[in-house]
Amino acid sequence: EAKHRGKNQFILFTDAMQKKLMEHHQEELALAKAIKNHQLVLYFQPQFDLEVSKVIGAEALVRWIHPQKGLVFPDQFIPLAEQSGQILELGNYVIRKSFEYLRSRFDLGLPPILLHINLSSLQLSDLNLVPFVKEMIDLYKVPGHYIGFEITETTLLTDLEHAKKTLNGLKALGICIAIDDFGTGFSSLGQLKNLPVDLIKIDRSFVMDLENDPDDKMIVEAIIAMAHKLDTQVIAEGIESHGQLQMLRDFKCDLGQGYLISRPIPEAEFNRFDEDITPLLK
Ligand code: C2E
Ligand code: MG
Ligand code: MG
Ligand code: MG
Repeated sequence: EAKHRGKNQFILFTDAMQKKLMEHHQEELALAKAIKNHQLVLYFQPQFDLEVSKVIGAEALVRWIHPQKGLVFPDQFIPLAEQSGQILELGNYVIRKSFEYLRSRFDLGLPPILLHINLSSLQLSDLNLVPFVKEMIDLYKVPGHYIGFEITETTLLTDLEHAKKTLNGLKALGICIAIDDFGTGFSSLGQLKNLPVDLIKIDRSFVMDLENDPDDKMIVEAIIAMAHKLDTQVIAEGIESHGQLQMLRDFKCDLGQGYLISRPIPEAEFNRFDEDITPLLK
């Protein structure tokens, strides 16, 4: 009887697995089609200088405009793309679209910005990354110093030696290197001092409780002070309140980004976004 039930359970299990596998495969096919049919678009979230209250850059954040589901957020397809390896194709697509956007900004006569692009670990270990970026710089005639890459600590520390080579290759092209979600991994600023890092991005989880959690306040203040000693700039992500903004200013944080100023917005809206954000801070 127990044996019998066990066998049935086994069959149920494989059926469920089979179903999952097929769904997975279908999602991969759908994503491949989405890339091919340009259903992936970039949204832009303004990044601003805290001292002069001016927009100086943006983070490019990918969205899937799905014919049935509408706007689909990256957490719904980036992990899948990383598992399947499609992140290389998706990533190159995002890089190309970013260059295309900067080219169009120049052609429209809009103020220059530093555009930050997120990079997954598979992309960082891709030997074609540096040559591809070089190709984009030449093709779109956009100098490398208008582009930044956001890389998480975990990604960097998985293969430090290889990461170092790739980062140096990117630096040689003028690219800015930022550490994303800083504070959530296990890296120390000490480990990072051997890497060509220009910017540290303090994770939203620390900014969120800045006003209420004395520990977070201390951590953020310390990160900023140490980064500055290492000649590295700091950006805070996820600023949602005036109180948080004021504290970050007091700590001499260089840059910021968050819903208080703007959510990620489509290209046309970002093009109309005023460089001067002082009216939004009242
Ligand atoms: P991330 O790089 O840490 O990006 C920040 C995320 O926080 C974005 O979510 C952004 O919309 C959100 N955010 C910004 N300000 C605020 C705020 O004030 N409050 C709150 N609650 N959230 C805020 P999004 O666009 O859903 O992206 C999620 C993640 O997906 C990104 O995290 C990044 O890791 C990944 N991602 C997005 N685009 C790409 C891409 O082109 N390539 C790769 N590899 N990953 C991407
Ligand atoms: Mg990011
Ligand atoms: Mg981040
Ligand atoms: Mg994050």
